[in-house]
Amino acid sequence: MRRRTFLGSGVAVLAVSAVPWRRLYAAQDVPAVSRTGAAITLPASDIADLRARLRGGLLLASDAGFDAARRIWNGYFDRRPALIAHCAGAADVRHAIEFAASHDLLVSVRGGGHSISGQSVCEGGLMISLAGMRSIRVDPESRTARVEPGVLLGEFDREAQAFGLVTPAGTVSHTGVAGLTLGGGFGRLARKFGLACDNLLSADLVTADGRLVRASATEHPDLYWALRGGGGNFGVVTSFEFRLHPSPPVLLGGPLVFPFAQAKSVLRAYADYSMTAGDDVYADAMIMTLPDGQRALMLDTCYGGPIEDGEKALGTLRRFGKPMQDAIAPTPYVVLQTLSDQALAPGRRYYLKAGFVREIPRDMGDGVVEEFASLPPTVIAIFASAGGAISRVSPTATAFWHRPARWNVVAATVWDNRADDEGNIAAGRRAYKTMEPWVKGFYVNDANLAEQSQANVDSNYGGNHPRLVKVKTQYDPRNLFHLNANVVPAAGIEPATP
Ligand SMILES: Cc1cc2nc3c(=O)[nH]c(=O)nc-3n(C[C@H](O)[C@H](O)[C@H](O)COP(=O)(O)OP(=O)(O)OC[C@H]3O[C@@H](n4cnc5c(N)ncnc54)[C@H](O)[C@@H]3O)c2cc1C
Repeated sequence: MRRRTFLGSGVAVLAVSAVPWRRLYAAQDVPAVSRTGAAITLPASDIADLRARLRGGLLLASDAGFDAARRIWNGYFDRRPALIAHCAGAADVRHAIEFAASHDLLVSVRGGGHSISGQSVCEGGLMISLAGMRSIRVDPESRTARVEPGVLLGEFDREAQAFGLVTPAGTVSHTGVAGLTLGGGFGRLARKFGLACDNLLSADLVTADGRLVRASATEHPDLYWALRGGGGNFGVVTSFEFRLHPSPPVLLGGPLVFPFAQAKSVLRAYADYSMTAGDDVYADAMIMTLPDGQRALMLDTCYGGPIEDGEKALGTLRRFGKPMQDAIAPTPYVVLQTLSDQALAPGRRYYLKAGFVREIPRDMGDGVVEEFASLPPTVIAIFASAGGAISRVSPTATAFWHRPARWNVVAATVWDNRADDEGNIAAGRRAYKTMEPWVKGFYVNDANLAEQSQANVDSNYGGNHPRLVKVKTQYDPRNLFHLNANVVPAAGIEPATP
């Protein structure tokens, strides 16, 4: 009897394997959106095929985990891809790209999911999610690190700092390393060590035709050049190799808060001081509303050198006015990197407009402060530090053009309810208007792409644009990867909407 049962189940297995395996999963065709925005249908058998190929898995709207996987940092974007390829490695990325290319499907690429303008999630297309690719390998001997594209910068910081090493990669620990690096990558130590992309030694990338290539100074050098500031235009990076720098685990830094009544004079002093500050000084100025409802001007600080030198350099900031809170203190770098995590928590609704400036003239600073007196408390103005080592790299050495910028000025709004969208977006736009006359170009990573024309995006790449078009045409001639600050290939295939 037992033997019969065993034989019976064996027959069942044979019978199942005689059925084409794809039919086991074949549920139904799925409506989707093409690369150029047309309505298309994905056959169930092709979807089953893709599902069987992926090591990490494929998620459809009916699958558990679909909703969590489609969410990105900015809760304002509630888009539903037709499919989510949850990639476990380069092979999965390759299968996903081949599927998208052969079906001419709209594609979005998700690294850490922090695209402010929602580019990493598409409506009706294929979301290539790298969120599961999280390995980090630090080599303390060669001072390099290999980082997969789903890694968040706090994870990277912790691994590197365990060996007394660091590379600059942002200021909020839940931001993704991938998108941040490809667009540039400002961080607390960037004035000292350059942008994240300046520390990128090589990248493995799957191109639109499914090839896995390595880009470095000696392999595909044009692609390597383009990846450093040209964003996600050229393929999907499956591994980043970074240069690391020795840096102590504890640095002097933290917030210094002044009452709003002193905001104009503090901002003027800050603007003057910053023009001659050393590379070790990082200080972002923010005009904001504190949790107790008071408006304030905050300097978010970090000193990259020895603590005693930092006391002198950051001590100057204390004398810009009479601080109401002074939390500048020796602090582990990995803790400094988390100080804004809560204020910019994932899942809330955000609207942002930003641009680069070379100075903060008195008219601009005063104007921003005056306008903020009557803006809702949901609005924040940020003067985010640049300059130093970032500016000493030639604008044509990498695709990152805006080397001379000294600040990225940002008007951001943060709220929670859909019903408040209109008012908050209007307030964000009003805040940005006070900065706009001084702005020259924008950072591709926080650009409000829905409000930029293609002509503006082109000119924002400055003198690097013709070379970027050449590289784009070589590696992505059909513009499969266009949900980004798009470099339109020479064939002239215009981007579709997300
Ligand atoms: C809270 C917060 C704080 C921030 N702080 C900083 C900061 O301090 N410094 C700074 O420079 N920027 C900062 N940014 C901006 C940040 O650089 C961008 O949001 C960046 O896109 C985040 O990368 P990500 O991988 O998380 O984003 P995703 O949303 O995953 O990706 C954004 C885009 O990058 C491309 N992309 C992502 N991964 C890949 C890949 N593996 N291969 C090819 N293309 C890819 C795609 O085009 C994608 O649409 C911040 C953003 C947020 C939301």
